[in-house]
Amino acid sequence: MIADAAGGRPAVLELEDVWKSYPGGVHALRGVSLTIAEGELLGIVGPSGSGKSTLLHLMGMLDRPTSGRVLVRGHDVDRLADRRLSALRGRSLGFVFQQFHLSEGMTATDNVATGLLYSGFPPRRRRAMAREALDRVGLAQRAEHLPHQLSGGQKQRVAIARALVGRPSLVLADEPTGALDSRTGHDVMELLRALHTTGTTIAVITHDRELADSLPRRVEILDGRVRHDTGAWPLTKDSTA
Ligand code: ADP
Repeated sequence: MIADAAGGRPAVLELEDVWKSYPGGVHALRGVSLTIAEGELLGIVGPSGSGKSTLLHLMGMLDRPTSGRVLVRGHDVDRLADRRLSALRGRSLGFVFQQFHLSEGMTATDNVATGLLYSGFPPRRRRAMAREALDRVGLAQRAEHLPHQLSGGQKQRVAIARALVGRPSLVLADEPTGALDSRTGHDVMELLRALHTTGTTIAVITHDRELADSLPRRVEILDGRVRHDTGAWPLTKDSTA
């Protein structure tokens, strides 16, 4: 998290000339290059069909590119066997989804603790860390509530706590305000901004231009290409450190 003397930061995610084609000759991504440095908060914005979901899947190591390279903390995704890929994903990435994806029968604490299932921590420690994460998102008072006892905004806070609890290198938030009214969505974005100021690296994937415009960096996707990037942070020389 500390910048080097030149003000650069290590890359957490790098895409180099990434193409993704689907059967039937659809080229969903056509040569995307993108680097995310530690500590950034950026929006990846584009209309429906522009390739955002495909890009999110590749950034999240849930799919592999047809060509080009995806590096997560310097590890080339294509060179890792599935088990190592899952381990790297579990350690490096946190996911926030539009529809929250909480387990209904579990309390907020237990939902957040599922973010640590592959961490190797014992259950008691996982629950303690989950309560800390709920505190960070302002939900300490709701720790023992079930999802149906929470508002939409509170559910999304729980989901954010689950994404954060393992201290991932990068949080990928897919339309995090898409299922919320505008006021609640605004509050969730304020929370993401606050987490960013305390050092969390966050990429928000959205079709909402106004939302993206409120973020420090915007990467615009159109027809599977980066149409505009308002600017990456300077990287350390050895970006794969
Ligand atoms: P977005 O998330 O911006 O709406 P997508 O990544 O879902 O964009 O889609 C980009 C393009 O790739 C679209 O033309 C879409 O129809 C196509 N596409 C996405 N997934 C598949 C798939 N599994 N098979 C074939 N075409 C796909």
